[in-house]
Amino acid sequence: MKIGELLKAKGLLTDAQLNLALAQQGITGDLLAETLTKLGFVSSKEIAQALAAQAGMDFIDLHGYVIPDDALRLVPRDIAERMGFLPIGVEKGWGLTIGITSPSNILAIDTATRIGGKPPMVYMIDTESFYETIEKAYYFLENPIQQRIANTINEIKATEALSAATLSPGIISTLVELLIMDGIRKNATDIHINPASETVHVFCRIDGVLQHALCFPKIAHSGIVSRIKILSQLDIAEQRLPQDGSFAFSFLNKKYDMRISTLPTIYGENIVIRILGSSGPLLRITNLGFNEHAARQLKILFSKPHGIVLITGPTGSGKTTTLYAALRELNLLEKNVLTAEDPVEYRLSMVKQTEVNEKAGYDFAIAGRNFMRQDPDVMLLGELRDEETARIAIRASITGHLVLTTLHSNDAVTAIPRLIDLNVDRFLLSSSLLAVLAQRLARKICTNCKTEYQLKDGELKSIDLPELEGKIKTAYKGMGCPVCNNIGYRRRTVIGEILIVDDEIKELIYSGSSVKSIKDTAIRNGMTTMRDDGISKAIEGITTFEEVLRVVG
Ligand SMILES: [Zn+2]
Repeated sequence: MKIGELLKAKGLLTDAQLNLALAQQGITGDLLAETLTKLGFVSSKEIAQALAAQAGMDFIDLHGYVIPDDALRLVPRDIAERMGFLPIGVEKGWGLTIGITSPSNILAIDTATRIGGKPPMVYMIDTESFYETIEKAYYFLENPIQQRIANTINEIKATEALSAATLSPGIISTLVELLIMDGIRKNATDIHINPASETVHVFCRIDGVLQHALCFPKIAHSGIVSRIKILSQLDIAEQRLPQDGSFAFSFLNKKYDMRISTLPTIYGENIVIRILGSSGPLLRITNLGFNEHAARQLKILFSKPHGIVLITGPTGSGKTTTLYAALRELNLLEKNVLTAEDPVEYRLSMVKQTEVNEKAGYDFAIAGRNFMRQDPDVMLLGELRDEETARIAIRASITGHLVLTTLHSNDAVTAIPRLIDLNVDRFLLSSSLLAVLAQRLARKICTNCKTEYQLKDGELKSIDLPELEGKIKTAYKGMGCPVCNNIGYRRRTVIGEILIVDDEIKELIYSGSSVKSIKDTAIRNGMTTMRDDGISKAIEGITTFEEVLRVVG
């Protein structure tokens, strides 16, 4: 089957989308697959998965996958690029494991057989991650970054500088660049630079958890702070007040947006760098990790013509990823979709995305008000932070628009009192709110080193899961391997609960019922709580019980 037909047969592409893509292809001359991904109709990963299924091959998602150096050393970069395959592993006596982007790439298999001495294990990988991984993997093979960081730190120590002023600016800017590159290499979302009394520690947040990266002499701290401030156009003389700024960082053909925040602490200025642009590929509702029932409920919600769908959870709980997946459920060729985001993390074609800028006076409320004059069908308002934005969201939804937005609350039901706090009218709220989705992200066990083990008597009770004690005998964990950087976890899944506002819940909201009675009713009507959703994912072996408790408490 041809790619267009194949994707249509899988329900990933509509006729209208295919026709539009063919029209665009006629102008640009690009390949169809490339055009489809550029338009955001189908992701590069979905194309590869469809091709793999058609050819009866297994697909590997390379996002967050660390390719062992010994595999890379066996295959020179120019051969990998020319033959169109990526070495992803090598096992003594077993030959190479490779990833290819086209199922019919016989040349790649022949080449890998010659190099590995045996026919290789072959997996499908997607084109986007092929190019990205090949760049990244060989770059870091040729430029061992840990070694360069260690050398730079030794150089700083060796200068025996009496004061920070004597350190050469060259060393400082190299170290800043290396720290950022190391963060990108590890798929970190944030880099923390924490001064202590004698040293400075650097941590990276990877899959939601901080990990210690390195330590450097305190003498380099003020230079590093100044360098980062200069890059982000902050005031280097101001050291007593917090500041925030940003700068662009280009690395291996990719542009990253660095958001900087400084905070004066008793040991000097603490810096947090948020890395935007390192997020994984666009997902669909069905790939976020929701169970089948929840995914179906969400698809129905996002196809409603009007009302409010609220997503709640703390920062870093994947709300934005879910919102983007929601937008992909909409028929963007027939609906006018406008967004106000803070910041825009992913560019979507066919969606009118705007970025709020409070300093310039463009906030969510102003965005929402102006969207109403743009003939909208759906609007996404990044966050309900104030009374005015909440009022605009309600007004838009009762005048026939679908509004997607987020709020900070601990679980789905407590979003309701949070909205009431924003002075929202109970009657209007009960008639416009369709559902509240609360979510967290839990790390998934690395599939490469996942192991089943026997639970000890009392083990579940001791980790605060008495309800499961004696009911299950085994559990799963990751032992740690090169692919997951010895962490035992790789990538994350959603853990969520969906409060559907049915007639009974509407009545409870309107009559001002307690959080408890709303929650009890929702559970009686079929809501699975986040905790229960997490527990069933741990029982299935997708994640661990410890991880579930870490994220949902
Ligand atoms: Zn592993």
